[in-house]
Amino acid sequence: DITARKHNEEELFRAKEAAETANRSKSIFLANMSHELRTPLNAILGFSALMNRDPQLTAEQRESLTTINRSGQHLLTLINDVLEMSKIEAGRTTLFNQNFDLFRMLHTVEDLFALKAGEKGLTLLVEHSPEVPQYLHADESKLRQVLMNLVSNAIKFTPEGGVTLRIKFREESSAREESGDVGRLFFEVEDTGIGIPEADRDRIFEPFIQSTGGHKAQEGTGLGLAISRQFVEMMGGKLSVVSEAGRGSLFKFDIVVAPA
Ligand code: ADP
Repeated sequence: DITARKHNEEELFRAKEAAETANRSKSIFLANMSHELRTPLNAILGFSALMNRDPQLTAEQRESLTTINRSGQHLLTLINDVLEMSKIEAGRTTLFNQNFDLFRMLHTVEDLFALKAGEKGLTLLVEHSPEVPQYLHADESKLRQVLMNLVSNAIKFTPEGGVTLRIKFREESSAREESGDVGRLFFEVEDTGIGIPEADRDRIFEPFIQSTGGHKAQEGTGLGLAISRQFVEMMGGKLSVVSEAGRGSLFKFDIVVAPA
């Protein structure tokens, strides 16, 4: 008599169907949310930036507009982070490799953060060893996002001193012969900031987890490192940190690249 077993099988099948339907609805919900949230936000950002050009504004109005714009930008970052994380969890993130100029990208990242570092009186150095190839084949956008996140954290959690981004390259005879010459890029983002207590060093890579510095800053979602770690793993490497509370942190990661 296998009635009970048949019954269990049917239950399992129904549960699987229900889970798949729920997952599909989640993906559709997220895709719609992304659009629904970003459209009005773009209007807020665009029009507040436009209004700020009006020469007849009073100083007070200008300040209010700047606050609206800054809060909008912040909200946009949060929405993007939450959506990115959901996309990763839904298994809908894929690599998009293309040829690009690594040096130009590093300049863009440096330019983007030079002002912020300068305002805090921090030095921002970008150093790459001579063997690092200028033209690469890799996922430029994911690499940029990881670098921006690490450099932005380093500046955020460093009250004095500076931030250094170092890049090295090593050729590798890969198992994937068919893909031709490949190599590995090694990145380090070092700061002289507040550091991370030992108890938090692994946890900060989990979604929504912040350490003491993150709580105090009262900004950010605690998603940046979780997203960065996933991206780095997709690109064939590992992201890790060494840090001493009070003396700074050193985040390092590597990725597989092919010279273009
Ligand atoms: P967020 O920056 O949005 O809080 P992240 O995932 O990027 O989220 O970082 C998680 C936490 O890790 C931060 O809140 C902070 O407590 C800690 N952290 C990250 N980078 C550094 C750093 N360079 N120095 C000190 N603490 C850091």
